[in-house]
Amino acid sequence: MLHSIDWHARAKTAKLPNRPFIDGQYVDSLSGETFPCIYPGDGRLLTRVASCNAADVDVAVRSARKAFESGVWSRMAPADRRRILLRFSDLILANREELALLETLNVGKPIANAFNGDVVSAATCIAWYAEAIDKVYGEVAATAHDMTTLIVREPLGVVAAVVPWNYPMSMSAWKLGPALATGNSVILKPAEQSPFTGLKFGELAIEAGIPPGVLNVVPGLGHIAGKALGLHMDVDCVGFTGSTEVGKYFMQYSGQSNIKRIGLELGGKSPQVVLADCEDLDAAAAGIAAGIFGNSGQVCNAGSRLIVDEKVRDLLLEKIVAQARVFVPGDPLDAKTRMGSLVTEDQMDRVLGYIDAGRAEGAATVIGGGRVRNETGGFFVEPTVFDGVRNGMKIAQEEIFGPVLSAITVRGFDEAMEVANDTVYGLAGAVWTGSVKNAHRAAKAIRAGVVWVNCFDRGSFAVPFGGFKQSGFGRDKSLHAMDKYTDLKAMWFAH
Ligand code: NAD
Repeated sequence: MLHSIDWHARAKTAKLPNRPFIDGQYVDSLSGETFPCIYPGDGRLLTRVASCNAADVDVAVRSARKAFESGVWSRMAPADRRRILLRFSDLILANREELALLETLNVGKPIANAFNGDVVSAATCIAWYAEAIDKVYGEVAATAHDMTTLIVREPLGVVAAVVPWNYPMSMSAWKLGPALATGNSVILKPAEQSPFTGLKFGELAIEAGIPPGVLNVVPGLGHIAGKALGLHMDVDCVGFTGSTEVGKYFMQYSGQSNIKRIGLELGGKSPQVVLADCEDLDAAAAGIAAGIFGNSGQVCNAGSRLIVDEKVRDLLLEKIVAQARVFVPGDPLDAKTRMGSLVTEDQMDRVLGYIDAGRAEGAATVIGGGRVRNETGGFFVEPTVFDGVRNGMKIAQEEIFGPVLSAITVRGFDEAMEVANDTVYGLAGAVWTGSVKNAHRAAKAIRAGVVWVNCFDRGSFAVPFGGFKQSGFGRDKSLHAMDKYTDLKAMWFAH
């Protein structure tokens, strides 16, 4: 199916959603302002999208509040909510071709990844939470004999989901799944780089039977629409995924307004630690390359720091370079392409700026280091590996969010752990070792919300995902994510 479609032809006729979706329909924005949507594969203008301002956000919040208070969703029988969310998941899959195309047009990721990865993952996420709805129970506390004490979870009310552009559908689904399953109304604010699939989700939700107002989608700029949601007195919670810098703003917005709950999934600088006793350097090299060049390195948990023992360094680097050659930037709309563009010209310039900084600080490029496919007008950067990096360098400390690996050589286990933890981030980390003892020691020593041993980037909706330190708090995925969108209530019944 993927390979038989002429994606370029489809792109020419694709319907591009560009208006807010509020109260069950696409509406005109009050602001009348728009922002451009550029296809990063060739730099052409696709359309202009409504830029919601504080007044538009207010309309969306009032609609969401009204839906919540009416009980049409929040008090619906759990089994009915489950059926409707399963239908929403089915509709995402039924619209797989259109959603994959919209995602690739917005962010330049290979159509094969959008088609086989992003759409399927978003649908799976919604279905996972749908299935959970009528399978989670409250508690009965061990209180005095003349009391019955129930501990229950109740939905918060109006939840804002503010998401980034690197996996627009997945990041939206990670919020929508648990927030809708627990009975909240949600206002989704997609990143300005990638509004299409979120807007389409609004339409599919209505088709699935989710009542109007329960899912509103407001495209807009971060410092306008995102800020308006953060400061709104009638938004009860913000589920945010994005940069640490903007995550800090949301903490401030909360303090300046109504102490709304904030869940933060932020940036990372994840270590890939390869110990001297690693038994399978081929597997390590493949995992490390996929972990930094996949999605052009625009991944929050990208394994951007290679911390390698000097005993295996030369051989490992050779193997990583061989793996890097597999990631050839190509046409995102060609089904065979493995690596696409970066999301915007700005993002490309930022990544190239880091590559310059790495060179200026004395690191050596082993492979890559430049822009490619310039003739297309698109924003492509080739897989890049720096050797001779010290952990204090800018390219080892700051999140580049591009296909750039920084290799740091260490001696022994202790130094490896010290360097791995010498970062303000704590999203994820990995260790490659043949020793059971070192595997356990490292898994405990690495200060991160996720640690992989002899693998990288494995995931399941049954397992929580999120960070330590400045990578945020609160968890997406798994039943734990439902905690973020509910409050605990204790109810005492005297006999
Ligand atoms: P970003 O922080 O710039 O933007 C994220 C969202 O916040 C967007 O919707 C944006 O419009 C909005 N925003 C921007 N400025 C705002 C402001 N002043 N007030 C309110 N809202 C504002 O991040 P990005 O560039 O879209 O995405 C990349 C970042 O996301 C990286 O740091 C990456 O690590 C992180 N990320 C984290 C995870 C995770 O699960 N931890 C997953 C994916 C991406």
